[in-house]
Amino acid sequence: MKKSAADVWEDLRNQVDFLAEAGGGFVLRRPGDGAPSEPAPTGPSAAAGPASLAGLPPQTAAERKALEEIDRQILVCKLCALHRFRTRAVPGEGDRAAELMFIGEGPGRDEDAQGRPFVGRAGQLLRKIIAAMTFREDEVYITNMVKCRPPDNRVPHHEETEACSPYLIRQIELIRPKVIVTLGKTPTDHFAPGREGMTARRGRFGDYRGIPVMPTFHPSYLVRNEGNRELKRMVWEDMQKVMALLGRK
Ligand code: URA
Ligand code: SF4
Repeated sequence: MKKSAADVWEDLRNQVDFLAEAGGGFVLRRPGDGAPSEPAPTGPSAAAGPASLAGLPPQTAAERKALEEIDRQILVCKLCALHRFRTRAVPGEGDRAAELMFIGEGPGRDEDAQGRPFVGRAGQLLRKIIAAMTFREDEVYITNMVKCRPPDNRVPHHEETEACSPYLIRQIELIRPKVIVTLGKTPTDHFAPGREGMTARRGRFGDYRGIPVMPTFHPSYLVRNEGNRELKRMVWEDMQKVMALLGRK
């Protein structure tokens, strides 16, 4: 899909905005101009076993169809109590064969109203971060740990994430991203579990079945701490590691 000049400009503006706020020195580069891919700080584990998702053949047409079917199932799902509170379920959006996948916590008010992930304030910040990483929004896949909005944006309960996680796991198996970014504690606890807080866990790759997982702060935490440039700097540092892994840096 060809982008209009206005869209390209908007991407660049978002890129510059976020980098300026993160306080980094930066160079504007077009995707593909970067240095060759650096090795992963922690590569996919050779001993990941039969469940490993690394090195599988490219996605088939049937797998692509299966992803569309999952979306349809999510839209009518009643597997957990969250279905009672939703306006619309939010399966996720972007490239269903993306190399980069972002996983948030769950839809908020705006997402619930629109049926799209990360469209509110935190979402606008996430989309600036994606642009700063030299990715177009339609080149990555964005989704959440639970697909229906928890009332008053509370943290999803354990039984809700357990009920919903098979959808997300199937999405990961079929999309087979090269890197997953977990935003905040809820998805990080699932895909890169640890006992420490996010400040200690962010910035270090974990591994989910051979896929490197980068935990970082949730963009709504950055929005809530708007004046804190150190938080933005840390997120940008984490995203640069992801870019290096994908050869975008
Ligand atoms: N916060 C999330 O975790 N996900 C969204 O989609 C929006 C806000
Ligand atoms: Fe189904 Fe997930 Fe929505 Fe619960 S949150 S009703 S499991 S789609």
